[in-house]
Amino acid sequence: RTANIGVVGLAVMGANLARNLASREGNTVAVLNRSRGRTDALVSEHPEAGFVPAYSYEEFAASLAKPRTAIIMVQAGAATDATIDALVEVFEPGDIIVDGGNAYFPDTIRRERAVRETGINFVGAGISGGEEGALNGPSIMPGGSDESWVTLGPILKSIAAVAEGEPCVTHVGHDGAGHFVKMVHNGIEYADMQLIAEAYDLIRRGTGKSPAEIAEIFAEWNRGELESYLIEITAEVLRQNDAATGEPLVDVILDQAGAKGTGAWTVQTALSLGVPVSGIAEATFARSLSSHPEQREAARDLPGPSTATPVDDEIAFVEDVRQALYASKIVAYSQGFDEIRAGAAEYGWNIDLGAISKIWRGGCIIRAQFLNRIAEAYAEQPELPLLMAAPYFADALGRGQEAWRRVVVHATNAGIPAPAFSSSLAYYDGLRAERLPAALVQGQRDFFGAHTYRRVDRAGSFHTLWSGDRSEVEA
Ligand code: NDP
Repeated sequence: RTANIGVVGLAVMGANLARNLASREGNTVAVLNRSRGRTDALVSEHPEAGFVPAYSYEEFAASLAKPRTAIIMVQAGAATDATIDALVEVFEPGDIIVDGGNAYFPDTIRRERAVRETGINFVGAGISGGEEGALNGPSIMPGGSDESWVTLGPILKSIAAVAEGEPCVTHVGHDGAGHFVKMVHNGIEYADMQLIAEAYDLIRRGTGKSPAEIAEIFAEWNRGELESYLIEITAEVLRQNDAATGEPLVDVILDQAGAKGTGAWTVQTALSLGVPVSGIAEATFARSLSSHPEQREAARDLPGPSTATPVDDEIAFVEDVRQALYASKIVAYSQGFDEIRAGAAEYGWNIDLGAISKIWRGGCIIRAQFLNRIAEAYAEQPELPLLMAAPYFADALGRGQEAWRRVVVHATNAGIPAPAFSSSLAYYDGLRAERLPAALVQGQRDFFGAHTYRRVDRAGSFHTLWSGDRSEVEA
């Protein structure tokens, strides 16, 4: 039988994606895995899917209609390179290889260039939503050529999540654009999760409420402007009791957060682009900080605040935390979109930021009501220089900023770490400031390194003769 699409790599993501594809009208799916066990298991467990199993790359290529289209779902890194090489051997010019794994975008740029030499199309596609999303509808961020989008677009639209009647997939841009946007998606996800965790910690330590009680607060928040998948699952996690001890599960989970690298990539890339994604960076560092038990042990006896910081009005405090969370979340998304804007400029991608906000409304981990507001902001002003300055968000920040400040002050006075809340507020105040002490930094740089400075009143670069008569010269 002839298949119109193939999947290589049948671990949890690939198997679910293959089942999703097979469940859509008009698709016949060829499947291939390095070791044959996974292929046999998938085909025998899901006879309804009508899979066309292949046990070699030759067989796989022969089972696909032209232009052949295959989605790779194997481990990122060397496994992906090996799979691409094997497919290139058996595919022909015009065929399409899609990497649906979590590739680092510079790898995607490199692979696209190499594969293009053979006349075969290579598409790096970010896929978000975990195994559940892969099966029922993920958010998909494909890069690659316009030519490949013609064939691939309808297939990806058929399996993507749907939000507000629109499939959560768009042709993001050429070569590595899709994986770049997926990377930033994950960075925003780190920030969103850390902010929620800080809100929980502040409420718990400020009010002494139990995890189950705080779960109700999150469930309530999920009915308002914070409505999102992450808030929803937070309530579920907080509600869960441990079967073995009867304690809240969150109290028996070791407090060391893991990471698979996409947050770090987002921050590293932002550093080289010169984009201040401080909230995302703090969220990434907060995970690293948690994962150094020996240092945490060494620091345990360092002094904290000498006086207690009681919360007088619990209801008002919880509302302050909610507003601080919303304001910090606006900053996190604003920073993430800023990184995409800067990446697009650097790599020559024509990325429609409004379209990105729309494809994140469903299927992915950061799906939220909030993304509709972002889509509206970009619809009103496609060249928006700063998301948080768009009227809707500026207004929300204006309403929330006093509460935000109270929460950061409380956290500081109480000795509760709130790195993402406080760094987001510092970013907000930094961009707002009429004058920044950057002027002094420039003065220092000129003093020790003759790095020169510009003036507010005249064009040109200047240097003060610090070790001479301290007169100013034009550089
Ligand atoms: P894994 O990342 O665990 O990868 C396992 C698959 O890779 C198996 O099919 C394995 O084949 C294959 N593989 C490993 N090495 C090679 C090799 N050298 N040559 C060929 N095939 C190889 O699987 P997942 O399903 O978890 O993830 C697949 C991709 O999707 C990854 O890139 C991941 O980052 C990405 N992703 C995962 C998400 C998740 O929630 N898990 C979410 C979004 C993206 P074999 O059976 O023979 O060992």
